[in-house]
Amino acid sequence: MLSYRHSFHAGNHADVLKHTVQSLIIEALKEKEKPFLYLDTHAGAGRYQLSGEHAERTGEYLEGIARIWQQDDLPAELEPYMNAVRHFNRGEQLRYYPGSPLIARELLREQDSLQLTELHPSDYPLLRQEFQKDSRARVARADGYQQLKAKLPPVSRRGLILIDPPYEIKTDYQAVVSGIQEGHKRFATGVYALWYPVVLRQQIKRMLRDLEETGIRNILQIELAVRPDSDQRGMTASGMIVINPPWKLEAQMNNLLPWLHSKLVPAGTGHTLVHQIVPE
Ligand code: SAM
Repeated sequence: MLSYRHSFHAGNHADVLKHTVQSLIIEALKEKEKPFLYLDTHAGAGRYQLSGEHAERTGEYLEGIARIWQQDDLPAELEPYMNAVRHFNRGEQLRYYPGSPLIARELLREQDSLQLTELHPSDYPLLRQEFQKDSRARVARADGYQQLKAKLPPVSRRGLILIDPPYEIKTDYQAVVSGIQEGHKRFATGVYALWYPVVLRQQIKRMLRDLEETGIRNILQIELAVRPDSDQRGMTASGMIVINPPWKLEAQMNNLLPWLHSKLVPAGTGHTLVHQIVPE
């Protein structure tokens, strides 16, 4: 069952948080000359047209990227992310939104490499086409969780692994934990960044408990909520779990999240959170 299409959600508040964290991790990895691998297990289509039928139908980007696109007091922590978004939008108008693989493509260097997997029969060809001319990238129509066994450790022994499933099947909440466990067994020093939606808080609590029980150390949780938790349908918050976060990330997010929250949630509801759930 692959009914999820990211084109309905591209550029929403959850993407802003996810891609900001992704960009800051990539910038931190670039502080060393040595190459690294960017592995994106659930890569999506890559590029999203915000005036397209899907994005227009939900209008989610209007409460996400559109709220910060024209701000002139952007905190420094947003710069790498916003520069990548600007690259796809020459001029004033916000027309396209780059998904995680295109943000990585913008920020990675010549010596780095990308490994991208996507299963959807419509999104995979779009992704492959985006990367046709990029010799740093390998794009496969394959199961993202399998990559955590097959592609780790990278030859460079440095890497960021982004795990961003749609959670359209409940087993994703367990699959992400066992996937991380498999990856970590093979590559304990990698940076793992897992995105999660808060639809039912209990699901996230259980997922975090399962993750803590793996014994993996050095886990940071970052969350931005646009509404209070609820048992009604719909996502009220989203977050990133980062294993082996760059040392500056916690301070960067503490600095940035109040600003981001004030712009994305002008009504002031919801909350932000940066919390080391397991120490080093
Ligand atoms: N990471 C993308 C971004 O930030 O731009 C968005 C990814 S979207 C949330 C999740 C994607 O995972 C969908 O495009 C879906 O088709 C794909 N997908 C679902 N199950 C998968 C699997 N087992 N392996 C690889 N991709 C999968």
